[in-house]
Amino acid sequence: MSAEWVTRIRSNPLFRERAFVDGDWIDADGGETQPIDNPASRETIGQVPRLGAAETRRAVEAADRAMKAWRRQTAEARGVILYRWYELMLEHEDTLAAIMTLEQGKPLAEAAGEIRYAASFLKWFAEEARRAYGRTIPPANPDQHIVVIRQPIGVCAAITPWNFPSSMITRKAGAALAAGCSMVVKPASATPYSALALAELASRAGVPAGVFSVVTGSAREIAGEMTANPLVRKVSFTGSTEVGSELMRQAATHVQKISLELGGNAPFVVFDDADLDAAVDGAIAAKFRNTGQTCVCVNRFYVQDSVHDAFVGKLKERIENLRLGDGFDPSSEIAPLINQEAVDKVLSHVADATAGGAEVVAGGELDARGGNYVLPTLLTGVRQSMQVMQEETFGPVVAVSTFATEEEAIDLANDTPFGLAAYFYSENVRRVWRVAEAIEAGMIGINAGLISNAAAPFGGVKSSGLGREGAMEGLDEYLETKYLLMG
Ligand code: NAP
Repeated sequence: MSAEWVTRIRSNPLFRERAFVDGDWIDADGGETQPIDNPASRETIGQVPRLGAAETRRAVEAADRAMKAWRRQTAEARGVILYRWYELMLEHEDTLAAIMTLEQGKPLAEAAGEIRYAASFLKWFAEEARRAYGRTIPPANPDQHIVVIRQPIGVCAAITPWNFPSSMITRKAGAALAAGCSMVVKPASATPYSALALAELASRAGVPAGVFSVVTGSAREIAGEMTANPLVRKVSFTGSTEVGSELMRQAATHVQKISLELGGNAPFVVFDDADLDAAVDGAIAAKFRNTGQTCVCVNRFYVQDSVHDAFVGKLKERIENLRLGDGFDPSSEIAPLINQEAVDKVLSHVADATAGGAEVVAGGELDARGGNYVLPTLLTGVRQSMQVMQEETFGPVVAVSTFATEEEAIDLANDTPFGLAAYFYSENVRRVWRVAEAIEAGMIGINAGLISNAAAPFGGVKSSGLGREGAMEGLDEYLETKYLLMG
């Protein structure tokens, strides 16, 4: 099925196979390229340039030059360009979604949903640009005036993951450009085409050359230059905790400001006073979005003893009816995983759980098609010490454990170094407040399985990261505070 799409998409002007630096489409200095695969078929879709430190340095220098004029534009003028970029994304939603499905695998309708979500950050920050407010402070000395102003931090670098190839870029670039910064983006090697299509649309929207560049290629070399170059004043990373903490070390060299949106290990707690049907709907939404490959996906289910069997029974029925298939098949609800490594990790978590005594109630293996197609899986009798509860599985596996009391549920939910998202279901308003305040996470879904929204601050605590994206906090990340004392 996706073979026909490859031909169709490759001929679209938004499908670009060169990097975008300082307003030009470029190749690597030495002509090196790297292949991009379709997760559904494992066939190669095309190539992108494999840039390294030298090309990244030129992108950073161009960003520095371009920012001088960009920051002097009014916030309203920058907002108008961001709004145009937003409109262009919506005008080209079908093409952008198809490019994403081709390289990332997610079902086409879900990819279109991500394009709208990604565009919503451009709209949000187009409006927020005008709200980079400062303040005045009553001085201690009557002959003085204290004024606080907010200024763009400088050239920004972004490194983004493959699971949300568009929205993880606009969430950063929308805020940076609104604040008056310029940005060089390194997209994940698995999903560069979504990023390059965004660059084409940014250019059409009127984003000046150098203000937004996309460098594809070697993660180590590009990130190495981004953190070694003193022109870069801010690094924003979304990806694994392991790479994030390494980047934090590198960013220390020039004391660059850093934002980290890292891995999660989200708990989903079902109390005995929950609306079980709503909890099952929420569980499906929070677990199977992007086939379980999202940082806010549920990784651990804790269900109160008395409702365990009823919850598992309802969930099993829903999981067995989920349709797994090529993302271009309109009937597919979940899709192949990104690559073999992801398949291996998911199956090894299932094997570890079953070796420890967990029961496979549904799935638990590769689909008959093989490749990256893993069946949606339900495990019960899972223990806290198992890999599936300790590490992000990043796949379509529901791992269910039980608890007896509210206190135990909170302890289990917090028993992790991570703290990105958490979910719980309860109809008791006192419990809702107690549990929401006690769970250590940056974001809590209360009787809700989908929490992402451009207007809300997205981010984690503990090993899940630093800083927030979206909301008014998102703009703050790209602004420096300067205090002026007038005598
Ligand atoms: P990853 O391996 O950390 O990769 C993320 C990005 O970092 C990619 O662009 C990758 O480039 C780059 N990278 C890899 N090694 C690097 C290095 N040594 N130095 C600098 N950059 C390097 O993560 P992933 O597998 O793509 O994404 C999944 C992870 O992201 C999960 O843990 C998920 O929870 C997390 N995530 C978090 C959020 C959030 O908002 N908190 C959102 C989405 C995803 P290459 O692709 O070229 O290797």
